[in-house]
Amino acid sequence: MQAHDGMYIDGEWRPATSTDTIEDRNPADGTLLGTVPAGGPADVDAAVAAARAAFPGWAATPPSRRAELLAALHRVLETRHEEIARTVTRELGAPIGFARAVQASVPAAVCASYATLAAEHPFEERVGNSRVLHEPIGVVGAITPWNYPLHQIVAKAAPALAAGCVMVLKPAEDTPLVAQLFAEAVHEAGFPAGVFNLVTGLGPVAGQALAEHDGVDLLSFTGSTAVGRRVGALAGGAIKPVALELGGKSANVILPGADLTRAVKVGVANVMANSGQTCSAWTRMLVHAEQYEEAVELAASAANRYPPGDPEDDATRLGPVVNARQYERVTGYIARGEREGARLVAGGAEAPAGFEGGCYVRPTVFADVRPEMAVAQEEIFGPVLSVLRYEDTEEALRIANGTVYGLAGAVFAEDEESAVAFARRLETGQVDINGGRFNPLAPFGGYKRSGVGRELGTHGLGEYLQTKSLQF
Ligand code: NAD
Repeated sequence: MQAHDGMYIDGEWRPATSTDTIEDRNPADGTLLGTVPAGGPADVDAAVAAARAAFPGWAATPPSRRAELLAALHRVLETRHEEIARTVTRELGAPIGFARAVQASVPAAVCASYATLAAEHPFEERVGNSRVLHEPIGVVGAITPWNYPLHQIVAKAAPALAAGCVMVLKPAEDTPLVAQLFAEAVHEAGFPAGVFNLVTGLGPVAGQALAEHDGVDLLSFTGSTAVGRRVGALAGGAIKPVALELGGKSANVILPGADLTRAVKVGVANVMANSGQTCSAWTRMLVHAEQYEEAVELAASAANRYPPGDPEDDATRLGPVVNARQYERVTGYIARGEREGARLVAGGAEAPAGFEGGCYVRPTVFADVRPEMAVAQEEIFGPVLSVLRYEDTEEALRIANGTVYGLAGAVFAEDEESAVAFARRLETGQVDINGGRFNPLAPFGGYKRSGVGRELGTHGLGEYLQTKSLQF
């Protein structure tokens, strides 16, 4: 798609107040895809003012009408599915097959789920002699990252709009085109002017201005723990609700008796998807000592079946990482793992042959990883798996719970019951049992430093509502 050179504010594309721009480059080969305006505080002011003005009308719009508009938005996202997938492939480097199946399809499904929820949600309840009204909080300031760029936008915008809130979005610098495409889709669907507004810009400038803005009633942030802490502190200082979806270092616990071949294969696929740039990725695989060497061999050969390739090629399963900075970060961690004494059994820090013009990282597996190593503790955000050994179930639990994060995880066991018993003891917001599928209606969010609040389904809708009790 063609980049807009303005901001989407109050239902129209308006020139930015500054001439600064952000270059959007394809990480596969460095080509320039387009430039978008780098907004500043004045653009954020205009967007928040437009949202505030639209709020009373939108909050008073019957939920059934809000549902119709969300259903219309879903239809536009379906119609533009291929364009969305291609845009994400070019901006992010996600392989086209994955971009179609996940990057474009999941947001459409989430949008559809909120069209249904807006129509069916009660928005009020009876508690004894009280009528409790669930009312929209107001103007939402949303700040999103680049790794699932449209999903992260829709996971905030759809519930916010379903709840009767209005929004100003500041998307990630690396994926502004798909954010502009979403604004076009909102426009095409027929939402009233000002209900959704887009300001592209740099995090420390436009993002910061939005996070600090007095006219914003709720902040919803997805991104790194470092920036999440700042946004959370600003919200706390201003006594505003805040939702934070942050990083992870999730464990895939393979218990004795599980189907080892399947558990390792599914586990490696989970890490390699989206080049390892998934906040919920199971980047630590925990295996019992007796099956450890077999699992390491299986993991290495599974990883070698993800050769880096051109993301626009239908056959590619592993594309580049998003940009040169992430490339440096990920390969830096691989070098660090080797220095700390982990055993490299697949991949490595050197660039794959033939792909020197892009940000490609080899699919990498470390064995003999000890729980205290950086590659077992820190979020790498690349195609890097650490395989750890445990002697008994209690040790597996200690290792699994032994990081500051708690976003997701997996348990593979002989039977569902023992997997669930183990999952109950995990300090994490989601656990996939024996390879359970992603559910776009299930609450998603973190324990511990992986965040505050939940997205998706009714729990996600609840984040954008506040209650008022009427006593009779
Ligand atoms: P990031 O925190 O650098 O950026 C996220 C967003 O915050 C971007 O839009 C950026 O422009 C903005 N930003 C940066 N500095 C800011 C500031 N000072 N004030 C306000 N906004 C600012 O993260 P990233 O590198 O873009 O994304 C990767 C991280 O996001 C990873 O740590 C990953 O785990 C996390 N993530 C979490 C989830 C989740 O749901 N839990 C989902 C995706 C990504």
